Amino acid sequence: MHILILGGTTEARELAAALAADPALRVTSSLAGRVAQPRLPAGEVRIGGFGGPAGLAAWLRAEHVDAVIDATHPFAGVISRNAAEATAEVHTPLLALRRPGWVPGPGDRWHPVGSLAEAAELLPSLGHRVFLTTGRQGLGAFAGSPLHFLSRSVDAPEPPLPAALEVLLDRGPFTLDGERRVLREHRIDVLVTKDSGGAATAPKLTAARELSLPVVIVGRPVPPPGVPTVPDVPSALAWLAGL
Ligand code: NAP
Repeated sequence: MHILILGGTTEARELAAALAADPALRVTSSLAGRVAQPRLPAGEVRIGGFGGPAGLAAWLRAEHVDAVIDATHPFAGVISRNAAEATAEVHTPLLALRRPGWVPGPGDRWHPVGSLAEAAELLPSLGHRVFLTTGRQGLGAFAGSPLHFLSRSVDAPEPPLPAALEVLLDRGPFTLDGERRVLREHRIDVLVTKDSGGAATAPKLTAARELSLPVVIVGRPVPPPGVPTVPDVPSALAWLAGL
């Protein structure tokens, strides 16, 4: 059985590790190639786009793929739609492995928004020194802002960029102590994040709560309809066992 994992997340790597241990399976993980030095999953790895839904469908056919697990990041909306379209065309079972979003608790000052542009509009009413943890793409939404930004991403952010910008190159998982230090040392008074979910990047939310900082949370893109979805790796393994 050949399984394609659309990857780029911790869960995708955990799933690949679990499946690659089974000699009856051929496991290929696919990465977009955005990160210069990605953490490589166990099993076979291919890197780079497929060329849209048609390219992905052709790849599935050529490589005799029996099942696809879309374990991409919740904000990687294009590849998830492509996967739904391509697997429907070639009649290959598709599962989405999507970690649940974060849920606010007592003491949280969260401001949900629908996009980075909405976040940029809201920010001046919330603070002056912004910690941006939305990744290296999309900072153009803040390019016209007079606020001071600290951006954190694995690789350097792509222009256009805000005029007052400090860049922190770092890769999760992050610790609570480390997040407290970043907020204090950079005198951050507002945090912007995508609703990525998961434990690896959650400590910034706890640190913001402790300091009573407002957090602007960008909501997830709508997933393609009709794709069965599970929240964790054990559930994905159970789905595969049922095929
Ligand atoms: P996207 O906007 O959904 O996809 C854009 C294009 O990138 C797709 O059309 C596809 O090109 C290619 N692509 C995306 N994921 C791919 C994969 N796993 N394997 C092969 N090609 C892929 O994606 P994105 O938001 O730029 O994310 C790219 C990758 O980074 C994903 O693997 C995702 O899991 C990871 N990631 C994203 C975020 C985020 O915030 N967006 C955060 C952490 C990790 P073709 O049409 O040519 O096939």
